[in-house]
Amino acid sequence: MVNTLSDSDLLRIQRELSDLASGIGASAAVVAGEIGHRSRPELGYAGLAQREGFRTPEALIRHETKSTAHNASALVQVGTMARDSGDVGAVSSAEPWFREVGAAVAAGSLSVDAARAIRSGLGSPSERTGAVTPDDLLSAAHLLVIEAAQVDADELLRRARSARDDLDEAGIADRERAAFEERSVRRTRRPNGLSRYIIDPDIESAAFWDDVYDTLTSPRRGGVRFVDDADKAWAEGISSDERTTDQYAHDCFTQLLRIAVSAETGESRRIVGSRQPAVRVLVTRTALEARQGHGRIEGCDIPISLETVERIACESGTVQLDFDESGRPLDLGREQRLYSQRQRIALAAAQGGCMFGDCDRPPRWCEAHHAKHWKRDHGETNILDGVLLCRYHHLLVHNNGWEIVRDDAGFWLIPPREVDADQRPRLMPSKSAALRDLRLLSA
Ligand SMILES: [Zn+2]
Ligand SMILES: [Zn+2]
Repeated sequence: MVNTLSDSDLLRIQRELSDLASGIGASAAVVAGEIGHRSRPELGYAGLAQREGFRTPEALIRHETKSTAHNASALVQVGTMARDSGDVGAVSSAEPWFREVGAAVAAGSLSVDAARAIRSGLGSPSERTGAVTPDDLLSAAHLLVIEAAQVDADELLRRARSARDDLDEAGIADRERAAFEERSVRRTRRPNGLSRYIIDPDIESAAFWDDVYDTLTSPRRGGVRFVDDADKAWAEGISSDERTTDQYAHDCFTQLLRIAVSAETGESRRIVGSRQPAVRVLVTRTALEARQGHGRIEGCDIPISLETVERIACESGTVQLDFDESGRPLDLGREQRLYSQRQRIALAAAQGGCMFGDCDRPPRWCEAHHAKHWKRDHGETNILDGVLLCRYHHLLVHNNGWEIVRDDAGFWLIPPREVDADQRPRLMPSKSAALRDLRLLSA
């Protein structure tokens, strides 16, 4: 049906439908305003919402419409404005300066979103300083209702905010303080059991976050042109990376956190204390040796694959715990398998960064992989087996069936069968310029 329409008809119908939808939204708001009025607090238990078994009109509407709390509260808020505007001569109107906004909604000429944008952008009169009077807001709202025909709700909100700023120079500092008070990093749980972080930075921190984000992802968005060859190569590497920009930003921010908490500086110690944040994994020896089953991440009970268990063990070492049949811990024999700080320095000097293909991650970004898979091959923590891999490539090796082996010539990367049917080993040359210098000297 729609695929036979001309472009201009398609756009016209889209506009008409959207007008219809916003008209329906405005009517819904008017009805919600009346429900709110019949549920007003002074009626107590006799109010409509309470009689229906809901504490607030918003909760009642949410139940009736199966919509979100946000939508229900928008409907009641805007509906109240619309209702107040119709109450001729009413003294009850809570926000008389939005009379015209409410009237436009009631008349069907202003959408719920637009009304909300005007209201939240303009705010209330400043009682304390008297800098913004109800009359100021009344005339600002008048102009915005007219402008609403031309712009979308986001732009309207921006204009309303800036109108408020113009009226209330003194309020700028107040709002800045309010934004500062609201700064937060919140952690919630997703339905799949994983954590979700919601970051609301204050004004200054937001600018910093933005700058970090833009710097990390700029090659993706074609923002900056690089002149320097090294920068150019860096930018090309990032643009051709198969990760999405969101995934890429996630990996970068996680890596920055890792670097920060492992930094041996006083500043870092002062923030994280002496306990190093880390990921701990529990797995049975039977599962590891049979290469069947799964491990679990301590503290969140989410099962993870053995490949991931092995990679984490490869990077962070392991502690062997023995239990008797009734589950009492018997022995806390330590079986550490970690490269020491000195061994890492040696690896960094010898390999110069991630050894995978053309990857250019410096040693700082790398984890030390054990070339003979430890749990599988019972390898030793031998410095000769250490291969620096950035986190991304370390993950690739363990979880996607790549293999790294060593002989006298050096390290060899063996691709999985899906990548190369013949699994031809690829030599992994060192990236270390210092090592090249050394070889030139001794040649
Ligand atoms: Zn590894
Ligand atoms: Zn790499």
